[in-house]
Amino acid sequence: MRLAVIGAGIAGLAAGALLSQAGLAPVIFEKGRGPGGRMSSKRTEQGSIDLGAQYFTAQDSVFKDQVADWINSDVAAEWAATPMVLPERQPARAQRRFVASPKMSCIAKHLAKDLDVHTQVQVAEIARELTGWVLRDRTGQPVGDFDYVLITAPAPQAQSLLAEPSPALAAQAASVRMKPCWSLGLILGSPTGAKFDAGFPSSGPLGWVARSGSRPGRESAPEMWILHATAEWSQTHIEASAESVTTALIDAFSALHPGPLEVADTVVHRWRFARAASPLGEANGFLEGESGLLCAGDWVTDGRVEGAWHSGRAAALRLIDLARGQVSPSDAG
Ligand SMILES: Cc1cc2nc3c(=O)[nH]c(=O)nc-3n(C[C@H](O)[C@H](O)[C@H](O)COP(=O)(O)OP(=O)(O)OC[C@H]3O[C@@H](n4cnc5c(N)ncnc54)[C@H](O)[C@@H]3O)c2cc1C
Repeated sequence: MRLAVIGAGIAGLAAGALLSQAGLAPVIFEKGRGPGGRMSSKRTEQGSIDLGAQYFTAQDSVFKDQVADWINSDVAAEWAATPMVLPERQPARAQRRFVASPKMSCIAKHLAKDLDVHTQVQVAEIARELTGWVLRDRTGQPVGDFDYVLITAPAPQAQSLLAEPSPALAAQAASVRMKPCWSLGLILGSPTGAKFDAGFPSSGPLGWVARSGSRPGRESAPEMWILHATAEWSQTHIEASAESVTTALIDAFSALHPGPLEVADTVVHRWRFARAASPLGEANGFLEGESGLLCAGDWVTDGRVEGAWHSGRAAALRLIDLARGQVSPSDAG
């Protein structure tokens, strides 16, 4: 059975790992320079900084086991910080929070190391041909033909890939609204003396701030902060310049603690599709369309790391069943 997975975020990699354990050999295509998707980190001269997913929680026992396994493999750790509601400094909801360690992309790298991941390949077309599903990159070059294709791109990107081959799946993807997020990494020349390690500002442009060095495995000097704008502010300023966003977020951060801020460097990233505002909550964990096309990812389930992981696995289990039953894609669709 020839299997392709589009996307090497946590959903695509969780699927890939399970498929590979089952003796299937998925080919994974990732448009980015490395695996991780929204669980990635940005390298700076002063060290890596996590500009995407900040932490994950584990509600379900299967995922808890997976997290314990990652901790044993030294690619994840519990983050002991208690985020505060700011500026009041009231503790936010108590729950166990985990991070990949020493940077957010480590879990993805760990999962990807035994998989056939082709990075910097953006699948631009999925076409039904005599040989199966033919995937083509942005130059129109075929990158392979497959019996089954699992798409784990964020909903709007999945929608455009699916418009031709599966209008029904494309319509489901189109029904999911994804919220943007402007994310800023702040590298400081001197310590802030801030009396919190992480927090949810209750007003203004910022929705989240975290001291990078409070996260397991990260250096505490130089002091670095991750600032996330709220979805509403990010939407309003989606086409603003990186410079103006940087200035606005630094100003908002300055207002959260006393004392001057000595900014040494900044790194900014605009996530157009950061979080699913209206995930499908699909009970199966994945979507199945015509003749061997499947979708998984956070938008199919619940919009979080744990949900994305479950979704990828659920799709993989379905593919393993199909492989064991030797169901041809046309029967399965
Ligand atoms: C700023 C931010 C903060 C967040 N905070 C949290 C948090 O605190 N806790 C939490 O649980 N979750 C958080 N999330 C959400 C979490 O990151 C996601 O739910 C999860 O990582 C989604 O995983 P995924 O595999 O479904 O999608 P992704 O990680 O988006 O992976 C999809 C992959 O597909 C690739 N791709 C897309 N199109 C193509 C194509 N045509 N060809 C090839 N490759 C393609 C992309 O490059 C990407 O790598 C946050 C997200 C962001 C952006």
